[in-house]
Amino acid sequence: MKSFQIATFFRKNSSFWLLKSLQSVSKKRIGTIVFLLLLALFYVNSPISKVWNDSLVETTIAMDGYGEQLESNLNSTANDTVILKKERVQLLRNIEEKLVAYLYQIPDYSYIAALETYLEYAPMILEQIPSTVPLEKGDYWLSSEYGVRKHPIFRKRKKHFGIDLAATSDRYVYASASGTVLSITHSQKGYGTHIIIKHRFGFETLYGHLNKVLVSEGQTVAQHELIATVGTTGSSTGFHLHYEVVKNGIKIDPIYSLNLKRKIYKNLFRK
Ligand SMILES: [Zn+2]
Repeated sequence: MKSFQIATFFRKNSSFWLLKSLQSVSKKRIGTIVFLLLLALFYVNSPISKVWNDSLVETTIAMDGYGEQLESNLNSTANDTVILKKERVQLLRNIEEKLVAYLYQIPDYSYIAALETYLEYAPMILEQIPSTVPLEKGDYWLSSEYGVRKHPIFRKRKKHFGIDLAATSDRYVYASASGTVLSITHSQKGYGTHIIIKHRFGFETLYGHLNKVLVSEGQTVAQHELIATVGTTGSSTGFHLHYEVVKNGIKIDPIYSLNLKRKIYKNLFRK
């Protein structure tokens, strides 16, 4: 074969294979791919993500400023300790105010990661945010994550809106943040016996498949307060706690929250 013939052969052949592979992808698949590409494009350019990024930048710039002032206040050699203390209290209050406003608006935990440094200035806020494991250390293991999975009973692919923490019968269940018991429901199906607690900043938590309920509706609870025991009520194949976190009405992935409080306090004590 002469060189130009080889080139034509390959050109022909490659377009042939390209055509062939495109034919093997069904029309439905192409539709899905195009849809996903458009969705990704929309997200990158979306005004929503832009507003969020701008708002986060603004918040962190403001808090950085307060943080710097706080640093120089702490290192100050001035004699007037009363004025210094007053200024310190005010700066901490400013940081907390910014944090509070931001925490009300954020859609999920991914936005908290950028604020970890500032949470160290106001760690008490973490008592009001679902930021702990609702079971005792060593009492559980993560048996199912948040996201799409094959349902253990219905055998269909279904989104799992929470996480499953497998534990033995009657292990203690604790509130993952302070709040008010919004509802207690007993059902043969779904979540079985379950509790919903309302927290600050638009957070809610749900504890499902419970055995005993140890709180009542309307009761205020503290973070780590005993609220129930692990069961297998409702659509459940074994003893476990189904745990959900809702933020501004949307069920979000709680995985980041499990270690949040521990992480912030660990960093604090390291300093
Ligand atoms: Zn579950």
